[in-house]
Amino acid sequence: MVSRVIPVDPFDLVIFGATGDLATRKILPGLYRRFFAGQIPEGSKIVGAARTAQDSDAFRAQVRAAIEEFVGAAKRDPAQIEAFLSIVDYVAVDAMGDDGWAALAQKLRDGRVHAFYFSVAPSLFGALAERLHSYKMAGPEARIVVEKPFGRDLASARALNATLAEHFDEHQIYRIDHYLGKETVQNLMAVRFANILFEPLWNSQYIDHVQITVAETVGVGGRGSYYDKSGAMRDMVQNHLMQLLCLIAMEPPYHFDPDAVRDEKLKVIRALQPVNSSDIVRGQYLAQARGDCDTPLPGYIEDSENPQSKTESYIALKAHVANWRWQGTPFYLRTGKRLRARTSEIAITFKQPPHSIFDENESEWRENVLVIRLQPNEGMNLKVMIKEPGPGGMRLVQVPLDMSFAEALGEDGADIPDAYERLIMDVIRGNQTLFMRGDEVEAAWAWTDPIIAGWEARGDKPASYDSGSSGPEDALMLMHRDGRRWREIR
Ligand code: NAP
Repeated sequence: MVSRVIPVDPFDLVIFGATGDLATRKILPGLYRRFFAGQIPEGSKIVGAARTAQDSDAFRAQVRAAIEEFVGAAKRDPAQIEAFLSIVDYVAVDAMGDDGWAALAQKLRDGRVHAFYFSVAPSLFGALAERLHSYKMAGPEARIVVEKPFGRDLASARALNATLAEHFDEHQIYRIDHYLGKETVQNLMAVRFANILFEPLWNSQYIDHVQITVAETVGVGGRGSYYDKSGAMRDMVQNHLMQLLCLIAMEPPYHFDPDAVRDEKLKVIRALQPVNSSDIVRGQYLAQARGDCDTPLPGYIEDSENPQSKTESYIALKAHVANWRWQGTPFYLRTGKRLRARTSEIAITFKQPPHSIFDENESEWRENVLVIRLQPNEGMNLKVMIKEPGPGGMRLVQVPLDMSFAEALGEDGADIPDAYERLIMDVIRGNQTLFMRGDEVEAAWAWTDPIIAGWEARGDKPASYDSGSSGPEDALMLMHRDGRRWREIR
């Protein structure tokens, strides 16, 4: 299967924060990969911008190093790297002052898309928007890409939306949630709306419950003090897990069109019920022994450098979407750091058939489960019951119908673009389907705020959990008491 790479029109892209971690690890290597794939024409221009005083050659050396480190050997072609570097430029710019702005404006060429990627701290988003406006770079050809976090509560998200709206129309604002750029996440929509198979069963009559898991093995070391002001609810649930929930729960949009899709997602967020405190479990990881090594990996309290911290590095909760389709089907969400394995998946557990024609021991029965894996090894797995092979009578056994996208799609599957690559190309093409609209973000905070306010008012302390485990014991109980079980994290 050969995938089509359709080149975009030549564009100018300015990356604010071009010397930072995100630009170095994701944005710049991702742009190179799109260039290598033939999607970025040579007439385009990529301008790095940050305060660091350096010339374009010094920045190109930095981009080259990022490519060497973060792009696989098969794509590190010297001639292609040189060609890519020839479209890379740099301007030293201070978001909080006037240095460099006139020079930056000079770099942009008329008659093409001008995209501005805000890969800087959120406290600078407003200042960047204002200066783009005052230096006459906020015209109709401009698009801004805004990184997460988009606010830390409803009030700050509203204020940020209002600041951006002073200088840019909503259709020029691309709020990025890189989870939406993952192949499997988009496949969720394809599976649901391009097949007749699942949609008739996609409701509370046939679906028992849904589990969404985003588990990480890393702790918060290195950015502990930042994370301590955020926590798993703000950092992961309000955006990534909420977006996944929306794609599973939403009604079919009338068309695969940005606003049609986002209207349906918004309806889901608005239908989310408040969460009972008894349906929330929060945790903090403990220190982890490291084999023979004398010094264990620090626990959350040490990583955050806050001995009094009540911030959660793990959260599990039960959510309900209060509408006709989902009445009675709970959505269990969990995410945490320093867990047993790095894995992200959505598991949809169907109900049992209403009647069994087989004389089978009840305990042999297993529900059908559709698992959509986001990482590692993006793909899908449908667990179905079949007859156990052999002459032992009609014994049933559950087997997986497994599809790894990398295997199913052959060479192309192994070459699935990184989420950032896809999303940046969408910005250039002007396709906002996979970006959050302002009202969506605000609705997500409106659901999240009272949950956080509740545990803050009660002074709840997160439960401890062992690093390398599946999270706190209480999280197991959250499902056990409903007669259900979490899927293993592995
Ligand atoms: P970072 O490593 O701290 O980089 C910040 C960048 O901003 C640097 O290039 C810095 O360069 C520049 N900068 C700082 N102050 C500036 C100013 N006044 N004017 C112009 N440039 C300035 O941060 P990061 O990890 O790349 O994160 C960037 C954004 O992406 C943040 O909003 C973060 O929340 C978000 N994000 C990051 C990740 C990730 O994996 N890193 C993931 C998701 C979201 P100079 O010091 O040279 O100015």
